[in-house]
Amino acid sequence: MERFKKLGIGEQLMKVITEMKFEVPSEIQEKAIPSVLSGKDVIGKAATGSGKTLAFGAGIIQNTKKGEGIQALVLTPTRELAEQVAQALRRFSKHYNLRIQEVYGGVSINGQIDGLRNAEVVVGTPGRILDHLERRTLNLQKVKVLVLDEADRMVDMGFLPDVEKIINMCPKERQNLLFSATISSDIEYIKKKYMKNPQYILVESYIDASKLKQIYYDVPSHMKFSLLAFLLKNETVKKVMIFCNTRTNADIISDNLVRFGLRAVAIHGGLTQNKRNMIISKFHSGEINILVCTDVAARGLDINDVSHIYNYDIPKTSNEYIHRIGRTARAGKEGEAISLVTNRDYDSFRKVLQDESLKIEPWELPRMEQIALYLPQRGRGGGNRRFGERDDSRGRRDFGRRGGGSRGSQWGRGSRGRR
Ligand code: AMP
Repeated sequence: MERFKKLGIGEQLMKVITEMKFEVPSEIQEKAIPSVLSGKDVIGKAATGSGKTLAFGAGIIQNTKKGEGIQALVLTPTRELAEQVAQALRRFSKHYNLRIQEVYGGVSINGQIDGLRNAEVVVGTPGRILDHLERRTLNLQKVKVLVLDEADRMVDMGFLPDVEKIINMCPKERQNLLFSATISSDIEYIKKKYMKNPQYILVESYIDASKLKQIYYDVPSHMKFSLLAFLLKNETVKKVMIFCNTRTNADIISDNLVRFGLRAVAIHGGLTQNKRNMIISKFHSGEINILVCTDVAARGLDINDVSHIYNYDIPKTSNEYIHRIGRTARAGKEGEAISLVTNRDYDSFRKVLQDESLKIEPWELPRMEQIALYLPQRGRGGGNRRFGERDDSRGRRDFGRRGGGSRGSQWGRGSRGRR
């Protein structure tokens, strides 16, 4: 507790930190909070799970005054992250009586308009914030702190022009706090154009490499689902996230896992916000233990205790891979990241392996039976409607059917494998 106090955290916030049983500050909190509290601009290289919300939240909460208008604005790439950050700030500010309003699309705008009238802190996604600005239901003239949370994601998702419009509507005199898992040229651009002499804080080791086992299987594509099902049935898995590259694949995989008797649900941008919230709370409570997701839906979710990450589809870059595996082996717990690589994934996987810091070991395929993978029927009137209705046409049409593929070692790293 002393270590929190030393950072300049006030009594009321200390009470909450004690209630939440945080014992020591995380690295980003320790390094960022003093600068944040003193009003300096900060760029924090830190990912989900690093404790960055309290790092910027401490500043927002301690420097915001009740009843004096919207003084802090937090921009997030996704609705889930907005919801999660707003909830965390509400919890942290319990004894400060501040009004925190979340603002994101996919839900009715009227409740947000009411909430914005007497809010002091706004957390939201760029699109809906612009919408409110255009309707003049949001006024940013009193903003003293602007937070760009998961700034790299916002850029990746094409929000930079919207973010810039919003920044330009804030007062020039303000504190800027930017958090990002990766620092790209776009982040440098934001820094140069909008920030004042920011302090860089790098939290490199957000994955505990000693606790994280990273492996891959080179699997013929017709056996890929069979391998996934085999591993899920035979390994002691607690909470699992399975990543797919498209909504369609996420639906197909989760439906097939359910058919196979597993407690899986798909979560992706094609579901309503309420549905997504419901799924996340079921995952938290343990009612379901397998979340099949797309990267967009998974971004910024506050999900701890993930024991296994499966890359059913291989991410296209090592950054994306790092974001995915960053959800396991947290807070001293063990974790496993398993990539299922077929011949179609070789190009992407080669890109992932370009990051030499990633120690991904090849493993031998276990002996397993082939399981039929049910696919959506294409066209009208045919068979399995449940799938066909949600086909977003970006999925692979021949998923899991064709191929068999070459299985040589493609990456110049020796195959050790499990005996
Ligand atoms: P964040 O990266 O801010 O989303 O935080 C990730 C998770 O870590 C959240 O569930 C926080 O409640 C939790 N957390 C934040 N700071 C600490 C801390 N100092 N000690 C333990 N847990 C923390």
